[in-house]
This record gives sequence, structure tokens and C-alpha cells, in this order.
Amino acid sequence: MKGLPIVVVGAGTAGLASAILLARQGMQVTVLERVAELQPVGAGILLQPSGLAVLRQLGLLAECAGLGAPVSRLYGTTACERVILDTRYEDWQPGSFGLGIHRAVLMTALLNAARQAGVRIETGVTINRFRQTASHVSLFQDNGQGGERLFGDFCALILADGVRSTLRAQMRVKQWVTPYPWGALWSIQPTPTSSASTDLRQWYRGCSEMFGVMPTGRTHANPDTPLSSLFWSLPTAAHDAWRTAGLDAWKTRVRQLAGAGAEPFLERIKCSSQLTFATYADVRMQRWHDGRVLAIGDCAHAMSPQLGQGANMALVDAAALATALHPQAGSASDARDWPWVFADYAAARRQHLRYYRQASRLLTPLFQSNSRVLAVLRDGALYLARHNRLGRYHAVTTLVGARTGWLFSRYDEDALCAWRREEATLHQALP
Ligand SMILES: Cc1cc2nc3c(=O)[nH]c(=O)nc-3n(C[C@H](O)[C@H](O)[C@H](O)COP(=O)(O)OP(=O)(O)OC[C@H]3O[C@@H](n4cnc5c(N)ncnc54)[C@H](O)[C@@H]3O)c2cc1C
Repeated sequence: MKGLPIVVVGAGTAGLASAILLARQGMQVTVLERVAELQPVGAGILLQPSGLAVLRQLGLLAECAGLGAPVSRLYGTTACERVILDTRYEDWQPGSFGLGIHRAVLMTALLNAARQAGVRIETGVTINRFRQTASHVSLFQDNGQGGERLFGDFCALILADGVRSTLRAQMRVKQWVTPYPWGALWSIQPTPTSSASTDLRQWYRGCSEMFGVMPTGRTHANPDTPLSSLFWSLPTAAHDAWRTAGLDAWKTRVRQLAGAGAEPFLERIKCSSQLTFATYADVRMQRWHDGRVLAIGDCAHAMSPQLGQGANMALVDAAALATALHPQAGSASDARDWPWVFADYAAARRQHLRYYRQASRLLTPLFQSNSRVLAVLRDGALYLARHNRLGRYHAVTTLVGARTGWLFSRYDEDALCAWRREEATLHQALP
């Protein structure tokens, strides 16, 4: 393990968080990112207490909580205000909350911390191929003349190159990538004063229409303007028709669904280019490790954002990898080589990730499909869950990222307990 650095491909949430924690354990870490200039793009994200506990471990919680917006519940109704979803963080722990955050805030905090930890970050580098031997992994790039050239040798490779990873398929592991038939239009807009709220608010028509507004907080660049993320569900096959129909047709549908609640946001959307269409896929791998190569984050287990867990899982992956490297202080882990560390990591993550992948696959069609039967089943099941204590607890423990199974759940709550203890202090840091 000694001598060669470890390399992480992809400077997203998973890649940067892992790089920071590995560098802080004395590893030489290089992060390679294909984008030349790191400009975080994407919708706002909701971080759950499980992900916030990792931000705390990274020392970035105060910075992120200072700019993010607390979310106290997920609240969804039909157009006529019939309640469908009402999951409150306080049902998990009084005073707890999710954090709506602009991607740029999270990425800026992670990038700065990575640089401070001594991580070497190289941008504008696209890796096309890797080859591993018993002692190291070699990375290769295009040489611009139809061939390839050696980029470098490393002791191990962490693939954090996202859902559309081109390197994952080179692992000797069975894998399945299934695109979801639905995506979402999203936009980040300033929050009108009259619309300030700590609810992540959604409106539904059956399973086929959904409009959502999520508090997203502020950015480093613009700390005085609170923002909200807007979401509108759309089948990927209907995206062209949506563009052809025009913005006014879309606004009419949103008004019919969300009424006055949407109006202050709709006023700010003047052209369709203010809405970006995101598609997503489900990624399943037989295992996440192959010798000296490990897949983490969306590359390993991308899921639909319906449960709002992707970035959280990426953060939890990073913490689990750091633990697998040095399981206990004073252990003989220096003697273990990367394949064993990666196997331990995979064993530690198995149950948690299996539950969230299954839950995400099960729940997504209940919110994004054309099925009327599913809409009735969803409304009935959520009604029953909302009206009994066990149901509410199951829903909220799923939301906060703390479940490892449908019936029994044994998530290692050490980090979450530490997070709970800190919450009182954290509330003071919130805007
Ligand atoms: C609309 C939408 C809403 C979402 N909302 C939430 C939410 O509320 N909460 C939540 O937790 N999650 C949410 N997610 C999911 C979350 O964004 C992802 O799970 C998370 O960003 C995954 O992080 P990652 O680091 O694994 O991958 P990414 O963020 O995709 O990073 C991968 C990086 O690898 C780089 N790369 C790719 N290929 C190469 C290569 N060959 N060489 C070098 N570099 C390469 C890419 O440029 C990129 O920077 C949402 C996703 C979408 C689409």
C-alpha cells in the first residue's frame, strides 16, 4: 500500500468527501475530474441527518448549515388540499431537521476542505480505461491520435464518476443500469418573502403530476438571497412535447395543481431555459469492489431522487470507507491491503444501501407513473402510516437515512447520536 498514491476519479460529493477523509488519515490522494472548471450545477439537494452527521465529521456542518435552509417536514397534498404526505422530522427526534442546500455550497465546502487536507485535484482529465495487477492500478487517457497513453500508476482506484460512469463497466462485476422512464424539470429561484417556509411542499395529481418547492438556502456568492428549488415531474418521452407546448401551457397546469402556492415562483420564470430537465437511472452492482477498485456514490448505487438520498448515501459511503481503512484506533490495519479494505467497506454498506435501493425503486412509481391503481394504493397506505405511531416512525426513519431493513433496522447510530446532541447548538447557526 505504501509508495503509490490512491486515486479517486470524479470530484462530486462521493469523490471529494472520500478524498478528504482518506487524506486526513495520512494517505496521498489524487482526485481526477473530467470537467476543466469545477462549477457545481444541479438542483438544490435535501441533506438528511445521516448525511449531516458525515458533514459534521468532515468539519463542514457549521458552514453548510449556516447557508442552507432547515426543512422541518415533507408535506404533500392534492390540488384540493387533501393531505397525502406529512412526514415530520420531529417524529424522529424533537428539533431535528433536513437541510435544503444549494449544490454550489456543498461543493465549495468540500473542495476547500479537500485542498486544505492536501488532496491533489487535477481537473480537465478524462480517464478512459484502467488495468489492475496484483500490486497496483494503471490509468489510461486518450492520446489525441486515436490511441491511449498511460496517465499514471496508483495503489488503488476509487470510482466516484457518477451514474453515467464509463469506467464501472470495466470492473469484473455484474451490473445493471436501468434508466427511469420519468425525470424532472427543476429551477432554482429567489424565495419571495410571502413564500418563506420550512416545509418541502409538494402537490400531486394521481401519480402523474407533481410540483414541488424546496427551501434551498443561500450561496457563498449571494448570502442575502434565500433560494428555493422548484421541481416538476415529466416522463422523459414527453420532454419534447413539453417544449413545443410552451411555457404558458406548463404554467397553467402548475396553477391548476398548486394554485396560489405556486404563483410567486411562476412569476419569476420568464422562459423555458430557466427550467432544466434531469433524468436519472437505477444502478445495481453484484458487489462494489473488484480487487484494487471500488465503486462508490452514484457510480455504485444511483437511485431516483424521489427519496432524496443520493448525496446522503455518497457522504455515508465516504465515512464508511474511512472506517474500513482504520476500523479501530490502534488496529493493525496498516498491514491490510486495499482489496481487504474495500471488501470490509462493502460488507459494512450492504444492508443500508440495499434498503434504500429497494425503497427508492418501490416508491418512485407511486409518485412518477400514469397508474391510477398505484395512486389509490399510495394514498391509502400513506393515510394508514400517517395515522399510527409505528407508521410515522417507519416513514421518518426512512427519510432521515437511518434504516437498514423493512422490519428491523440496525443502522449504526453512533454518528446520528452525535448529530442529535449537536442539534441545539446547530439551530443557532441556522439563518
Ligand atoms: C434532480 C435531482 C435532484 C436530486 N435531489 C437530491 C436530494 O434532494 N438529496 C440527495 O441526497 N440527492 C439528490 N440527488 C442525487 C444526488 O445529486 C446524487 O446522488 C449525488 O450528486 C451523487 O454524487 P456522486 O459524487 O456519486 O456523483 P456526481 O455528483 O455525479 O459526480 C461525479 C463526477 O465525476 C466526474 N466524471 C465522470 N466521468 C469521469 C471520467 N471518466 N473521468 C474523470 N471524471 C469523471 C463528473 O464530471 C462529476 O463531477 C438528486 C439528483 C437529481 C438528478
